[in-house]
Amino acid sequence: MPADIRSFFAPLKPAELPRLPLKPPHALDLPVPWTLNLPAGTTSSNTSLPWVDQTLANSSFSSIWQPSSPRQPDEPDSDNEWQPSANAVRSDEMREKVMRDPDLCREIIRGLPIVVAQQAGFGFCVDCTYRTSKENGYIQVTWAGASHFVCLQELLVWASGHWLDVGDQASHLCANPRCTVVGHVVAEPGILNQRRKGCLSWVECPHNCGKVVRACVHTPQCIRFRPGFSNWEDFRANGFH
Ligand SMILES: [Zn+2]
Ligand SMILES: [Zn+2]
Ligand SMILES: [Zn+2]
Repeated sequence: MPADIRSFFAPLKPAELPRLPLKPPHALDLPVPWTLNLPAGTTSSNTSLPWVDQTLANSSFSSIWQPSSPRQPDEPDSDNEWQPSANAVRSDEMREKVMRDPDLCREIIRGLPIVVAQQAGFGFCVDCTYRTSKENGYIQVTWAGASHFVCLQELLVWASGHWLDVGDQASHLCANPRCTVVGHVVAEPGILNQRRKGCLSWVECPHNCGKVVRACVHTPQCIRFRPGFSNWEDFRANGFH
């Protein structure tokens, strides 16, 4: 599969993306979007729809994963031997550099190992084949020697020219935690992300004409696959009434 397969998956038009101010992200409060590799002892609220975001509402997620903050190199440890690892410093520096550079974000995303989504319902997505973190179920991205410096969905937000503001979550419009398509993940307040759970996005037209009508009240619209279209934008343009 050529790396430029994403040219078929054009991002949403800028006008459809939330216009969030470019501010430094604060402590993230991302939902655990998938049931894979959930921390031991946790449960997931589930639905019958395979593409619906599987949010781990009862997890104290901030205790599981947070973006790293700059280390204090001279801060003594109890045994006076603590030093920030070279990798931790690299990760912090890389976050600072990459979050401000959407073009670099897209370059990093283009370098990820991918496969066109095979899971039912995710056919408009291009999946990253990295294993998800055992710790929190996210795909963590390593680049240029900075190990696991960002999770995939946050990188997609940065690539769209936005940052996560206070209270924001990286929200999958496609509900696919492996997705690498810029435009399928947006930054939005957690409450709006939660309201996408269970959304059908569209339903068959009652005229039985082969087209669909929108059933989603969210902005931007939730993404759900339908065969016969080259990407979500093609479907939006030609498959809807
Ligand atoms: Zn997607
Ligand atoms: Zn119709
Ligand atoms: Zn929706």
